[in-house]
Order: sequence, then structure tokens, then C-alpha cells
Amino acid sequence: MLGVLGDEWTLLIIQRALLGSTRYNDFVAALPISDSVLTGRLRSLVAADLLARRQYQTHPPRWEYALTARSRSLWPMLMSIWEWERRWVPAHVEPLPAMCHGLCGSEFSPLVTCQACRATATEKDVVAQWGPSGSWSRSVPATTNRRRSATRRGRAGLLFPQTMSVIGDRWAFALLVGTFVGLTRFTDFRSQLGAPPGTVADRLALFAADGILVNARGRYQLTEKGRGFFPVLVTALRWAQLWYPAPEGPAVQLTHAGCGGPFIPVLVCDQCATELRGAQVIAVHPLPE
Ligand SMILES: [Zn+2]
Ligand SMILES: [Zn+2]
Repeated sequence: MLGVLGDEWTLLIIQRALLGSTRYNDFVAALPISDSVLTGRLRSLVAADLLARRQYQTHPPRWEYALTARSRSLWPMLMSIWEWERRWVPAHVEPLPAMCHGLCGSEFSPLVTCQACRATATEKDVVAQWGPSGSWSRSVPATTNRRRSATRRGRAGLLFPQTMSVIGDRWAFALLVGTFVGLTRFTDFRSQLGAPPGTVADRLALFAADGILVNARGRYQLTEKGRGFFPVLVTALRWAQLWYPAPEGPAVQLTHAGCGGPFIPVLVCDQCATELRGAQVIAVHPLPE
């Protein structure tokens, strides 16, 4: 999942597709992207079954890019990223526009609820446990640490700068999941993640600098901002488990303490309490051109 989504251009292209873009020039008009980067990303999105390429004109031949079931189901994660960045990351060049719910017409925030019992769910009442693989180490191959710390901070984030520092780096994502599982100590992160000490120290320092974790006498704890990432984590994990099921079972199992059932996140509008639908993502105000 992180191999596919740990790339900001990929997320932005899918977001534009969810907002209605289908043609090459739509993406060019909506994103500050170069031709070579866009061409490359469209190709890899088609290969990953996140976009379907189809011909809409034969003379001259023209192609468009349609959402697939796999990419259409990414809207809860993208909506959660949008909300978190909008609320917690003040460093955006342009403030992110609010989202408007097409059904009730209100500006809204998505609320995470439990599919089984419909109650609102937070990180306090969803219990995360490592799945059958026992720890994250098998899910985070050592060779996938592709972003180096020196370049990580220097990279100019487009719309989701801090989200990308979490999901653009597998170790960072695993470490943040670890905090929701209840890890607090450096040595526990190291052993649970099977990560080199420098890697763990680097990610912990990054999260502390971004105000996602706070170091209280040797224990790393989520801040309110860190806890606010919960919707992104659970929607991302849900998507991964739907589309990339591991034969040995999920890496992380979530249980809703409120009802005792397996936790499946459902987003509802905080204004009208109606379950949000993917098609309503089009109600997000367009970005300033
Ligand atoms: Zn429940
Ligand atoms: Zn609503």
C-alpha cells in the first residue's frame, strides 16, 4: 500500500481524478506537474490498476484516464488527509479550502464511525494489535527505505507536506502505527519494527519536530495533532486490507472496544450525520488556480 501511495504526485493525481479530471490536459491544468512526471505517474497508475486508460478519439488518437474500483475507494483516505492537513498543518502556502457536503450543503469535517455499531470512533476506543505476522518487521522490508533523511525534510511538499513525511516513508508509517498500538519507548520501537537504531531515532525526531509525538521522560506519546492522524491511518489500513490482502492476514488488526467487533471505519458528515459517499468528494471546493 505504501509502495503505491507513498508518493505525493500519485495522491494528487488520484485526488484530481476523484474531482472529475480524466484527460491529460485536465491534470496539467490542475497540478504544477511537468510533462515527464505526469506521463510517468499516469503510466505507473495504470500499471497499478489505479487508473484505466481508454481511447475516446481515434483521429487523432486521444486517451483518457478513468478511476478504477481500487482508486475510487481511496476517497476516505484522501478526505482524511485533507482534513488533517487543513486542521493541523499551518505551513500551507495557500490555506486548504474547506470541504462542502453535497447532500446537506454544509462545510463539514468527516467523522470516523464504526461500521458495525455506527458509534463515533476515536483512537481511544479502537484497539490496534499486530496481526498474525506478529510485528511490523515483515511488512517493512529493509530495502524499501528509499527516502533518505537528508532529502526528506528538504523536499517541498505540495499539498500534504506532513502527511507525506508519514506515508511517504515506510518506517515512519510503521512507527506511527506503533504509537497507536501503544509503543512508547525507543527500544520497543526498535524491536517491534526490526529497524536500525538510527532509523528509529531519525523518525522519532522528525515526529517530535512536527509536533506529532512528544518525548516525555523517555516515552514518546502522541500529541493531539498526532492522535488526529487516526482517521488517515484507519482509512489507509482499510484500503490496504481490501486491495492488498496478505496471505497470512492483516499486519494490523483493529477492534472497536465499543462493540467488540472488528473495526471498519465509515466516514460520516459531522453536520448532518449522514454517511459520506465517494461521489460527494466532488463537492470539495476546487483548488485556487
Ligand atoms: Zn462498533
Ligand atoms: Zn452533511
